[in-house]
Amino acid sequence: MTTRQTLVADVPVDTRHWIGGRRVASARTFTTTSPVTGGPLAEIARGTPEDADAAVAAAQEAFPGWAATPAGERAAVLHAVADAVERRIEELAAVETLDNGALLRSHRLGVMPRVAQNFRFFADRLLVLGHEDLDTRGHTNRVAWDPAGPCALITPWNAPLMLATWKVAPALAAGNTVVLKPAEWSPLTASLLADLTQEAGLPPGVLNVLQGHGPEAGHALVSHPGVRRIGFTGSVPTARRIAAAAAAHLTPLSLELGGKSPLLVFADADPDLAADLAVEQFDNAGQVCLAATRILVEESVAEDFLRRLTDRAARLRQGDPRQETTDIGPLVHPRQLERVDGFVRRALAVGARAVLGGGPHTGLGGTYYRPTLLTGVAQDSEIVQEEVFGPVLTLQTFRDEDEAVRLANDTRFGLAATLATGDRARADRVTARLVAGTVWVNCFFVRDLRAPFGGSRHSGVGREGGDWSFDFYCDLKNTVTAPKGWRAHG
Ligand code: NAD
Repeated sequence: MTTRQTLVADVPVDTRHWIGGRRVASARTFTTTSPVTGGPLAEIARGTPEDADAAVAAAQEAFPGWAATPAGERAAVLHAVADAVERRIEELAAVETLDNGALLRSHRLGVMPRVAQNFRFFADRLLVLGHEDLDTRGHTNRVAWDPAGPCALITPWNAPLMLATWKVAPALAAGNTVVLKPAEWSPLTASLLADLTQEAGLPPGVLNVLQGHGPEAGHALVSHPGVRRIGFTGSVPTARRIAAAAAAHLTPLSLELGGKSPLLVFADADPDLAADLAVEQFDNAGQVCLAATRILVEESVAEDFLRRLTDRAARLRQGDPRQETTDIGPLVHPRQLERVDGFVRRALAVGARAVLGGGPHTGLGGTYYRPTLLTGVAQDSEIVQEEVFGPVLTLQTFRDEDEAVRLANDTRFGLAATLATGDRARADRVTARLVAGTVWVNCFFVRDLRAPFGGSRHSGVGREGGDWSFDFYCDLKNTVTAPKGWRAHG
């Protein structure tokens, strides 16, 4: 069966692969369903190993031309992609919301503008990449940022286009070609991105979009000998499989993985700010890798903090993510609902108490899960140690700074940490002891794109962002040139 254009939120989406500047059908398709309506949205091409081969071949063929394109011209095309994104923010937002269930308001006002910003930022950064010459006894060392080759980019469903372009933009800016494999639960905006890059004048084969399932299309792609970089955002179990596949060809990897990040609330914190930070962790129905899902609060203020948090949570409006007034939409898929509920049920079975929520929102049906806060949880329990990826927070107390740091660091993850404290010196002391790729002090989620982003321990391998993205997507070359008249010593 072949696939063609389908209307999603009145937007035509071509659900075939995008390979070498052409739409390519697959022998088989799969259905993407909407967590908003519960119904099917589109039939998507289900990529095979042969499709992955074709996509990599297209990326290989386009590579020399794109790599040789002057940086200024590459940057101009990426700005044109950003322009195209900006012209179609409403359409992209509407499709993404139907596909993954995240708030339309956030997509329109935050996520899609950030997609455009991803392209603009790396386009501009490319033009000011550091090229400082080094001098060794008169010999000049000149560092060049050579593009690495075709990149396989594999991305998740929780912020599909934002996370895909966070990798696509620097990979293309660096002069690489790309095969993007979006998540099967939210494949639609990747297909629209292909249209936008064509409209912007990106040459055929420079960006390819391979649709399909992870173990099929994704596995074939990351196992391919023609791929020179693998950029992956997703879960730890998948990262292990990808790393094993990459080992065959020693393909360099960047892994942005899960988290179980803490929010540390000290007694000296502004109590309203602390409660606001905590309630923010329900954003995107908790399907945020960076979410501070373990609240650690100083014993002396725990009761007051809990009251403020539950007051705020009670005001959250759950429902259709297309409504302006909605704060929390559905989970992405019935399987995710089952997974989240499984974690909560098992926690309740071993003694946790649901101070808030504790189950699906039966009144709304579908995949809505009530914002949940669990107390009475043990540090070594599953609910404290494992990533739930839903609107589920745990609350524990600590007596002093040492205990706070010990609990905060006591998981296998190290993606982020958030601190609420009124004491700068304490913030500095605690931050220095935390294992985390990002630490927020009295704020959350704000980040300069020039800064490094990634996780420690099982939260990731490597850093992206700013020049760290170029480090990963380039083969750095140092050329040492002798001074005029220099002779080797006999
Ligand atoms: P996932 O690991 O199930 O899937 C991610 C992608 O990998 C999908 O495109 C999937 O098709 C593909 N895939 C699956 N098996 C594969 C294989 N064998 N070979 C190649 N590709 C394969 O993750 P998910 O459920 O889509 O996303 C949720 C996870 O992503 C959470 O753990 C979350 O914390 C993490 N995440 C991390 C970040 C970050 O920046 N650190 C950001 C967002 C999400």
